[in-house]
Amino acid sequence: MMDNRPVPPDGARNFVLLILDSCRFDSFMAAKPVTMNALGTVERRYSYATWTMPSHFNMLTGLLPHTSPTHVFASTYYKQELAGLAHRLGIPKMGFVDMVPRLWLPHFLRTSLGYHTRSVVSMPVLNGHTPLNVDFDSWQLAPAHNDLDAIIPLLTFSDERPTFYLINTGETHYPYATPDEPESEWPVIHGVHGVFKRAGDGPMLTEAEAGFNDERLAQLHRRQIHTVSWVDRSIERLIDSLPANTWLTVTADHGELFGEGGYFGHGPIMHEKVMEVPFVEGLVNARM
Ligand SMILES: [Zn+2]
Repeated sequence: MMDNRPVPPDGARNFVLLILDSCRFDSFMAAKPVTMNALGTVERRYSYATWTMPSHFNMLTGLLPHTSPTHVFASTYYKQELAGLAHRLGIPKMGFVDMVPRLWLPHFLRTSLGYHTRSVVSMPVLNGHTPLNVDFDSWQLAPAHNDLDAIIPLLTFSDERPTFYLINTGETHYPYATPDEPESEWPVIHGVHGVFKRAGDGPMLTEAEAGFNDERLAQLHRRQIHTVSWVDRSIERLIDSLPANTWLTVTADHGELFGEGGYFGHGPIMHEKVMEVPFVEGLVNARM
């Protein structure tokens, strides 16, 4: 699969994009995650989509959750975003002419910059049979939907070329369960039928019906906050495992509704909270 990959530019570094699936901005802030807060300034950003598949597609075009700036043309904002990408990759003079016409980050990284492109995803809706895996050298489904620690040993980096990794982890996704919690103790919500069904080789969520009460929803929100704290400790271990000079961006693919406006979850929802996501990034294991 090496197909005439060029020699990477000087300074090109590994770039890990970590998606905390469904992590709502205020859940992130309430958890006060020590490791992620130390990475950089946490921003409130906005997803381009309200559910997993289109949101990941959009991020793979190179457009991460946006800041919703006013009085700015979209084209100007996109140019700034691409400059941000150059900063992440450590290639300040990077040209983007090769992004056109394909507009697909893994393709650009691989064929123009000589990167390896890899992904490990937790959500079965992102499984390797979907078109999202195009131009990836490897695309794996994680062993569990909610265990970043189990993803860490799967990651492979090269001394010869920088690697782009897309990682999606689902501790923060419904049912907001940490891996130490037995499935028998996961919340059982009246009206949710067949919470998990097999799809490919992993579990998949089905849609929930209405019928939640406020206390139940508040409890679910608290569960999501708890998972942010849990995954923060996993991220500390992730960072320890990453090569020197790796750029790490942590964000979410969309938010989650806990009763606001009569909604639960994400997807077919038009509400500000389903767009609000945390965004924080920085260089880890910087070499002196
Ligand atoms: Zn998602």
